[in-house]
This record gives sequence, C-alpha cells and structure tokens, in this order.
Amino acid sequence: MAVTRTFSIIKPDATRRNLTGAVTKMLEEAGLRVVASKRIHMTKEQAEGFYAVHKERPFFNDLVSFMISGPVVVQVLEGEDAVKRNRDIMGATNPANAEPGTIRKELAESIEANSVHGSDSEENAAIEIAYFFKPEEIVG
Ligand code: ADP
Ligand code: MG
Repeated sequence: MAVTRTFSIIKPDATRRNLTGAVTKMLEEAGLRVVASKRIHMTKEQAEGFYAVHKERPFFNDLVSFMISGPVVVQVLEGEDAVKRNRDIMGATNPANAEPGTIRKELAESIEANSVHGSDSEENAAIEIAYFFKPEEIVG
C-alpha cells in the first residue's frame, strides 16, 4: 500500500479542552505522521469555503459557527493509505455510533462537536491540503 497524505483538523471543541496532544497521540499511534501543523482561528469566509460542499445541508450555518468558535489545528498526515487510516481512527461522524478506541468515541462531545475532521478521499485530501498549506510548509 502506498504512502499517501490526508488532511486533518483538530476542531474547536478539542482545542478548548486542551486535547490537541491527546488527538495527535492517537493519530500517531495509528501510524500517521504529522508532516505539517499549524494552529489557526478560521475566518467565517474560510470555514464557509472549506465546507462549501455542505452548504445546502440544514446544519451548515451551525457548523460554520462552531468551526469559528475557537482555534483549530490544521494538519497534514502521512502514512500508508492515509485517508482510510485516518477515517478509521476518527470513527463515525456521530460519536454515539463510533467504535470504542476511536477519537470520536473517546473524545468527542456531539455529532457537531466531534473533535476531528478528516478528508474522505485522496482527491479531496489534495484540495483540502492546498486550501490551508503552501507546499513548503509540508515537510515529509
Ligand atoms: P465527517 O466529518 O464524518 O466527514 P460530514 O462530512 O458528513 O462528516 O459532516 C461534516 C461535519 O458536519 C461533521 O464532522 C460534523 O461536525 C457536522 N455534522 C454532520 N452531520 C451533522 C448533523 N446531523 N448535525 C450537526 N452537525 C453535523
Ligand atoms: Mg466529511
């Protein structure tokens, strides 16, 4: 299986509870390497652009408000089959449905405040990485 990259966000509910390290530890223990990382406070425009695919969903406005409610940590993760590996360690969108041992089951607060974002395909990973990082900010 090829070494690939994915994009991750440690969401405001996790940074607020000082769980940046705990989340990163679970990602690393799952075999993912953090090859870029920065703490930012997204603007409304940035969050709306990032989640544009969801703009017709009923939860869109609440999601954008949540994502700008505090700082986040955006990361590029590298590893074998990184997109799937990250989705596996994240767990289901709703923490109530997530498997034990996953980030969302162990750490998330709710279906909205679910601690982490992870790209859902290699194509979207490339788009999302480019949305937040310049090539020289990624050090593999
Ligand atoms: P995932 O983050 O697992 O890929 P989605 O792409 O479907 O999930 O949704 C993006 C984000 O929108 C979720 O991580 C969560 O924060 C929020 N969200 C999804 N579904 C709901 C919902 N039914 N109610 C509130 N927020 C939601
Ligand atoms: Mg998604």
